[in-house]
Amino acid sequence: MSDAHPGRIWLGLAACLTCALLGAGVTRLACLPATPAAVPGEAPRPVATGLAAATDGDWLALPPASFPIPPYARFLKDVRIVLDPGHGGRGHLKKWKRGPTGLREAEVNLSVALCLRDLLARVGADVTLTRSDDSYLDADNSADLRARAALANRLRADLLLSIHHNGAASPKANYTTVFYHGRPDDSPASLDAARHILYGLNDALRLDRHLECAVLSDYALFPPPKNDGLALLRQARVPAVLSEASFHSNPEEEQRLRDPDYNLREAYGLFLGLARWAQSGLCRVRLLNAPNQVGPGRELQLELDDGLARRGGFGAETSKISAASIDLRLNGQPLPFEFDPVKRIVRCVPGEQRWRARNTLTCQFRNQFGQAVLHPEVVLE
Ligand SMILES: [Zn+2]
Repeated sequence: MSDAHPGRIWLGLAACLTCALLGAGVTRLACLPATPAAVPGEAPRPVATGLAAATDGDWLALPPASFPIPPYARFLKDVRIVLDPGHGGRGHLKKWKRGPTGLREAEVNLSVALCLRDLLARVGADVTLTRSDDSYLDADNSADLRARAALANRLRADLLLSIHHNGAASPKANYTTVFYHGRPDDSPASLDAARHILYGLNDALRLDRHLECAVLSDYALFPPPKNDGLALLRQARVPAVLSEASFHSNPEEEQRLRDPDYNLREAYGLFLGLARWAQSGLCRVRLLNAPNQVGPGRELQLELDDGLARRGGFGAETSKISAASIDLRLNGQPLPFEFDPVKRIVRCVPGEQRWRARNTLTCQFRNQFGQAVLHPEVVLE
């Protein structure tokens, strides 16, 4: 669209609009390809789709090892991603997180993360790794996980992606799972990323088994009230997901995971997922008030960034925010507001009774792709 062919675009639109307008009164729309005219006395020729031959292929046969960067991956530029290769530094433990012939999960996690880092760097994403060698951040497991989450929180990452591989008692188990923390409403932006990452891994790894629901809450593993999900995800204050792309405990999968090219293939699946996630628009909110303009009885103004309009281009001026999805709260209490869809600004005047010593304004909304806000909380100083 941006390649300076506006004439062609408008001609195409005009043709289709004409079809739509005529549609009510004609039997066939002019923009559909005409069916070949039958010769008198001859039966119409069937339209061959080639579908039967095209679906004969083997889903499990991996596509060629070619990993081109799709043009839409440019939307990852400047997106801040913290990659967390799970585990590390426990090579001396003979049975710790190893496959049947001894492959260490920590090494595979790191190999995939390094490949993904390089792919993301190619498109200008802002990438940080929690570890880039075979080590723990802290000798103590709980402190290590806390440090990994703290890094993502300190950087205010747009996503914390923890890369793991699964293990099970059954050698047959081999499927993909992407975990988020808590309830679906706790961090909708985490679910957005999880969904795209799952799709990317599906395309890249071609596993034959797929869970009925492969995006799962960590409560499926460690449910409350006794537990509270996975420590890493629980402590993240930014969108966070944990991928278990496949099972290192599956003998065939373990051998595949030994291959650096297969690690790159998995990283490419994660990369495609992240690129599609970014293409769908990463939503943000920004308080327009100066600190001295905030207080009881003062009008607050929030700018909603749907992650799409600022790109410009064709159709940029039309709203891409679902107005019905906007939810504004002060200290957890719903606030009445007005929304200007042209300027994409939300206005509200919270009454005195809603204010506390420390105040947090939370604004959620969804863009037309259904994507939620990455960092919905604004602390009012
Ligand atoms: Zn793991």
